[in-house]
Amino acid sequence: MQFYSTNNKALRVSFQEAVFNSLPEDKGLYMPEAIPQLDPYFIKNIQQYSFQEIAFTIAKAFIGDDIPENDLKEIVNEAINFDAPVRFLDAETAVLELFHGPSYAFKDFGARFMSRIMGYFSQKGDQLLDVLVATSGDTGGAVALGFLGVEGTRVTILYPKGKVSKVQEEQLTTNGQNIRALEVEGTFDDCQALVKQAFNDKELNGVLRLTSANSINIARLIPQTFYYFWTYAQLKSQGMDEIVFTVPSGNFGNIGAGLLAYKMGLPVSHFVAATNVNDTVPRFLKNGQYEPKPSVQTLANAMDVGNPSNWVRIQDLFDQDLAQLKAKITSYTYNDQETVQGMEELFEKYKYVACPHTAIAYLASKAYRLDQPGHYASVFLSTAHPCKFPEAIKPEVYQYVKLPEGASLLADKEKQATEMPVDYQTFKTYLLVNN
Ligand SMILES: *Cc1c(COP(=O)(O)O)cnc(C)c1O
Repeated sequence: MQFYSTNNKALRVSFQEAVFNSLPEDKGLYMPEAIPQLDPYFIKNIQQYSFQEIAFTIAKAFIGDDIPENDLKEIVNEAINFDAPVRFLDAETAVLELFHGPSYAFKDFGARFMSRIMGYFSQKGDQLLDVLVATSGDTGGAVALGFLGVEGTRVTILYPKGKVSKVQEEQLTTNGQNIRALEVEGTFDDCQALVKQAFNDKELNGVLRLTSANSINIARLIPQTFYYFWTYAQLKSQGMDEIVFTVPSGNFGNIGAGLLAYKMGLPVSHFVAATNVNDTVPRFLKNGQYEPKPSVQTLANAMDVGNPSNWVRIQDLFDQDLAQLKAKITSYTYNDQETVQGMEELFEKYKYVACPHTAIAYLASKAYRLDQPGHYASVFLSTAHPCKFPEAIKPEVYQYVKLPEGASLLADKEKQATEMPVDYQTFKTYLLVNN
């Protein structure tokens, strides 16, 4: 399978090239040259397969012969080594829990798969692969734990000092091995600017083999389609097959994968995009004008994105046709006050403690049900474990959070982080001296 750039369909690259250079030079995004169509017989009988078997079938449809079958099977089995269970809250409402991976957020699917793909393509005596990543919290943990121990790779994470939660910081700073954490005395934007400058630095690129673990990497998108199919399998085994997915969205990678799954043949009645007040896409769906704005800080901070980079992929999937898009996607927006109410309601009605992102999805799934009543299963996605966002959850509710075993162990591990001023020369020297 080859991949084209959304800005130039004539530009084709191999899977390997698309993985190592997340972004085509024309600043488009890579898309598969053809959307792989899954065998209708497979989809009809999908409840007979395990999550890993489903994941392998999909991965193979994208990657084809670029990775031999047995190697790909091993990559999938290592990457997808935790479940994505569907839990019913009432007869027609369910939550898809995507936080059972090592960093307790859905980004584990993308990061674990991508790290192993990069490791696989790097094995043949190549120079060490240096992954640079700036994080506001969730991405860094998923990337750190995804690459931890992956041979031939080294990860440097830049995070803003004092601006990530306790569990997030522990996930970034207690790994050792091939993972290094830089505690930057600035904001997330400062971290991102330092990383960007490093990628554009010819001298540095002459010495180090740099790559990004960017969220728009095609190797992060592909594994995010797996759990949409797995949800369908779980519902089918309970005799249901009409689904509306509600996805809490920031950069629109998660919902983009869902829409890709739909285009591959997964029966999905409708998609609901749930956002915080960073509402560029909801406004676009209303008035057809794509007008990005600077991002606004909210309680659901992993969705504080003013210009969602994956949106061009979704437009590409729908041939830039607004009418088609609107027929398949509805969106709703919630402010912080509503988000808090959503968390409270989930707890009062269902004794379910959710992170703020998940609460936004819950509210949107409820709103859609009111607008479009019917006998379908509303599945809203839970993108993170609530323990990652303690400041955003009221203490009366937070006290019921069950800390995952791994999270309590983290607290005893030693923090290893290097303090870094917002100064490119200092950052560059660090990378060169510690090579
Ligand atoms: C990254 C993230 C999101 C947003 O996902 P996108 O793919 O960027 O839309 C939502 N919730 C959590 C917890 C996240 O970490």
